[in-house]
Amino acid sequence: MVLFITGRCSRTCWYCPLSAQRKGRDDVYANEKKVQTPGEAISVARTMDALGTGVTGGEPLLVPGRVREFCMELKKEFGEEHHIHLYTGLAPGKDELGALCGLVDEIRMHPPQEEWHRIGESAFLHSATLAREMGFSAGFEVPALPGIEGLRDALSALDFLNINELEWGETNADAMRKRGMEPADDLHNAVSGCRDWAAPLLGHPKVHWCSSQFKDSHQLRKRLIRVARNTARPFDHVTDDGTIIYGVIRGGGSIPEILSRLDREMYEVRDGEIETLWWIVSEYSAEIGGEKCIIERYPDRGIIVEVTPVP
Ligand code: SF4
Repeated sequence: MVLFITGRCSRTCWYCPLSAQRKGRDDVYANEKKVQTPGEAISVARTMDALGTGVTGGEPLLVPGRVREFCMELKKEFGEEHHIHLYTGLAPGKDELGALCGLVDEIRMHPPQEEWHRIGESAFLHSATLAREMGFSAGFEVPALPGIEGLRDALSALDFLNINELEWGETNADAMRKRGMEPADDLHNAVSGCRDWAAPLLGHPKVHWCSSQFKDSHQLRKRLIRVARNTARPFDHVTDDGTIIYGVIRGGGSIPEILSRLDREMYEVRDGEIETLWWIVSEYSAEIGGEKCIIERYPDRGIIVEVTPVP
């Protein structure tokens, strides 16, 4: 699960990928759901059978009490083995790290681009070393930007260096254009050429490359499949991509005869509409009154991907 713990951040990275809806707002989201309490986050984690949680933001360490509270409840609920990693753009000291002991397993630091060429003298390297001595797994996670090869000097002191493909977004597009950058293609958010900046480091055993496509499609797909597995109704068809498909009948009056012959769990009346097996709506359309369509959407009443009217 991705636990977005606050949209506030004390840094102003020009490439910040946060959306306008989240940036600067002190809201908490568990995956895409806005939550107020650890209990609500735990229900989201349950829905997807989460094996672990990534605490992100904004800057999580601006709300350390909240981080502790949520992590404590997640560990209490799912046990020690629920792996929690925390992103931070700060270099936490001994006291801040001490407060996270036993609650967070891994620290992923994001040192600013301006410090990469002298990372050996940076507070971030000191903080990562300290974190490892205190029992955390610790490394850096940064976007691929010019000058990233400077981080080679940090590798021996880190457990890992995760490099994310630089992503074009609504809030950083102007800053990208000003620097002469452009999207790689019309389909993905990746910025053209950024893999070349990271190329000198790729192949090192501690360096992991995460493409925007991998993040967008592979990770999302895995999450959708887990949620669909736990929330799909008996009549929902779960696709290989983790979306669900069902048929809808609107304004047809009473339950159509064809449905009354099915097990009761094969349809549901919801807000005056009937939801059921998509192929029943499609194949028996002539026997069913009202407006009919087939809906494909993310599971757990997530966003609607496609609505196909059935004549
Ligand atoms: S540290 Fe992260 S959240 Fe903060 S401004 Fe930079 S990219 Fe955005």
